[in-house]
Amino acid sequence: MLRLFSTFILLTGLVFADGFDFTLIKKGEQNDNNRLLVVGGIQGDEPGGFMAASLLSTHYKITKGSVWIVPNFNFYSIIRRSRGPYGDMNRKFAKLSTNDHDYHSIEKMKKIIQEKSVKMVINLHDGSGFYREKYVDKNHRPGKWGQATIIDQAVIKDIKYGNLLEIAEKIDKHINKNLLKKEHIFHTKNTKTHLKKTYEEKEMSKTLTYYAIGEGKSAFGNESSKALPVHERVYYKLLALEKFMDIMGIEYKREFNLNAKDLKNIIDNDIFISFNNKKIFIPLSRIRSHITYFPVEKGAKITFKPSSPVMTVLEEKGKYIVYYGNRKLTTLVPQYMAYDKFNGNIKVDVDGKIQNVTLGSLVEVKKYFNVQVDKRLRVNVIGYVNKKHKNESGLNVRKKYILKRFSIDKDGKRFRVEVYDSKVKNKFLGMFLVEFK
Ligand SMILES: [Zn+2]
Repeated sequence: MLRLFSTFILLTGLVFADGFDFTLIKKGEQNDNNRLLVVGGIQGDEPGGFMAASLLSTHYKITKGSVWIVPNFNFYSIIRRSRGPYGDMNRKFAKLSTNDHDYHSIEKMKKIIQEKSVKMVINLHDGSGFYREKYVDKNHRPGKWGQATIIDQAVIKDIKYGNLLEIAEKIDKHINKNLLKKEHIFHTKNTKTHLKKTYEEKEMSKTLTYYAIGEGKSAFGNESSKALPVHERVYYKLLALEKFMDIMGIEYKREFNLNAKDLKNIIDNDIFISFNNKKIFIPLSRIRSHITYFPVEKGAKITFKPSSPVMTVLEEKGKYIVYYGNRKLTTLVPQYMAYDKFNGNIKVDVDGKIQNVTLGSLVEVKKYFNVQVDKRLRVNVIGYVNKKHKNESGLNVRKKYILKRFSIDKDGKRFRVEVYDSKVKNKFLGMFLVEFK
């Protein structure tokens, strides 16, 4: 079975092209006055940032204190893999026209930052090259941003966690004890934004962190290098976030080992989505690029729950595309049909043992399965070779009886078993999956 985490935040509703809003995920104690705010996805082409924020929301449990997470601040830019379809959102925190496309998102974020309980704000980025205090070569020099903790100034007086430089150096030190490669070493980059003299300083005065400082909050940028694969960027970001939490006295539990290999596996494989109030469950690990004849209710809006807040479904040209961060995972080619509710269990003989299977689950099979339902229900094993049968209930179904190309995964292991009401014009009730081991 896929691992399910108790901390999963599930979202519902279909989002159409431009109506994207971001998600605020509140973890830990509600009445806490020492809150960390983590923002990912301010620029959609920086997956290290939004994937780290997303994993913090789904794979960590906050056991003491409180963390608020916005993993998908510019969700539309994430789906479009663009820095900002309507311009760079991280330059919109100083002045902004009310006509600006991002105006409402910026205002909403400003209100979250203003919350009294928020004491520290981390804005997650991926930056080019490797920041170095002195010129080494064109990829390792002061003008680069990758592998750096960013502060606007060394100290903010009279606020909690106002010793920005000291904190940043602790973060770097923690990360540098856990480097995957020497080249990945972290440094603190102080943009000295308040001087507002150079072009860079002027640009930085329009950013989220500088706005936060103006609101009396401790604030940091975190930049992992775009030269690294995404899971390694996420690795460094989670190291940083854990240390930030540590400094604030926030305690957490994570249900995986923090190393690059396990992170890659979680990012690529611990992903799934359910539809129709969980009557359809689709693991997205190694999913095929297209799934045909996907049962969608005629005349109704599709509803879904993704395993990640940076996952969504968009309707494009009559098909449903599952997006996961910058990735297009699969295209569901719909077959529209009537739906009906069914809350019972389905009796299935799995390798000689009877199981009561709920719709929307995944059943592991070694040799064969045999669905045993009464005549009210019709069972359709998608890809079953013998077309003679209209109802595949009561048959011993082995892997060799199902055409491999009908599997939902690229490896030919997971197959759909759809259940219909056989009396009332074939109403779709739901499906479960069988996975041949
Ligand atoms: Zn950025």
